[in-house]
Amino acid sequence: MFVDKATIRIKAGNGGDGAVSFHREKYVAAGGPDGGDGGQGGNVVFVVDDGMSSLIDFRYKRKFCAENGENGSSKRCTGRSAEDLVIKVPRGTLIRDNETGRIMADMSDDLPHILAHGGRGGKGNQHFATSTRQIPRFAKPGFPGESFEISMELKLLADVGLVGFPNVGKSTLISVVSAAKPKIANYHFTTLTPVLGVVRLDDERSFVMADIPGLIEGASEGVGLGHEFLRHVERCRLIVHVLDVSGCEGRDPIDDFEKINLELANFSEQLAVCPQIVAANKSDMADESQITRLKNYIEDKGFPFFTISAATTSGTKELMDAVGEKLSTLPPVKVYEAQPVSQEEWIRKVSNRQEFDVEVEDGVYYVDAVWIEPILRTVNMEDYSSLQYFQRVLRSSGVIDKLLEMGIQEGDTVNIYGFEFDFIN
Ligand code: GDP
Ligand code: MG
Repeated sequence: MFVDKATIRIKAGNGGDGAVSFHREKYVAAGGPDGGDGGQGGNVVFVVDDGMSSLIDFRYKRKFCAENGENGSSKRCTGRSAEDLVIKVPRGTLIRDNETGRIMADMSDDLPHILAHGGRGGKGNQHFATSTRQIPRFAKPGFPGESFEISMELKLLADVGLVGFPNVGKSTLISVVSAAKPKIANYHFTTLTPVLGVVRLDDERSFVMADIPGLIEGASEGVGLGHEFLRHVERCRLIVHVLDVSGCEGRDPIDDFEKINLELANFSEQLAVCPQIVAANKSDMADESQITRLKNYIEDKGFPFFTISAATTSGTKELMDAVGEKLSTLPPVKVYEAQPVSQEEWIRKVSNRQEFDVEVEDGVYYVDAVWIEPILRTVNMEDYSSLQYFQRVLRSSGVIDKLLEMGIQEGDTVNIYGFEFDFIN
């Protein structure tokens, strides 16, 4: 079975806790604080593995957790940071936050994508000694790692998608124009995993062609026209629509052509407008009148038409040249942009888990929360609506309540990662 969809849970490691410890030495009554910091929790990182062609590995294992950072210890020892957890996926996997549908990454490049950040380690008590507080008996806990339920969807990366009814000769065609060796058989349900083939036109020009699994396979048995698999054609820049011009299976190629185009259009706007080249295959078994009839029909509709025989390779070179020619005029393969977390999502997230810390030091309230950092970077302090948004974040996350609880007064100073402002409720 070909698996091209999966939903899994990922959880980055928590940061280790900071330590409370005091320097001890013989004959020294009481040393200073020397509690070390906690280590950083491991990230969950995604990378492309070109050896993988489906998401089958995620069918049984559905939870992936990176290790937590180690706690700090005495003698200023920082806890060990955890290793990242690396998850391999096939090229072309689109990853979304399952809760919001936001695109987190399109795994079509060779870069590692950190999808869940490990929690920062908590600071040990060595950091909290001041002139007025020489014996800090507290340290900070580590921050939790991010956690998401993500949905993964494989959308093949190919320039050209082969589309057509079962048995028209798609697999045969890809096998004669590329090094790909798909199963070829005179029965339906042959192509169960996607097959990508590189077609080399000359030293400089090549393109990737995909034989799409199960497309339209089983239609005659009434199990549907294989809609599911059309997503693999979605990124393609060009469709090669393969028809059996000989009608040796008792079907009419014109009928096939219309049915499949209807399917494409029903699936998505994008597929409806995707450029097509028509390949009339099995011409070795067809007579002239069959070919002429189909050619007239297709050309009247404005599509380029090529007569081929995949079995004898007649006409396949001309077809591939035309494909290469057409591709040079088309935009590159579609890559999806990762979408930033929306303001609403941030607010919801931060109000779900109140991960922050407030310390008072000489009348200044220091707010410490990892999730505020990225927000701070996007907030324009000169802009009223931006500031309002920031205030909403502070309120919904419970920071304002916490400050009030600690006895903050109007006009007191709040410091968030170096950014200072007066508290006004
Ligand atoms: P697919 O289901 O579209 O991938 O079709 P296949 O490539 O598996 O081919 C189905 C059957 O048609 C196989 O028995 C092939 O040998 C045969 N076939 C494919 N191309 C040609 C052709 O050009 N001429 C003839 N006579 N048979 C072909
Ligand atoms: Mg096939």
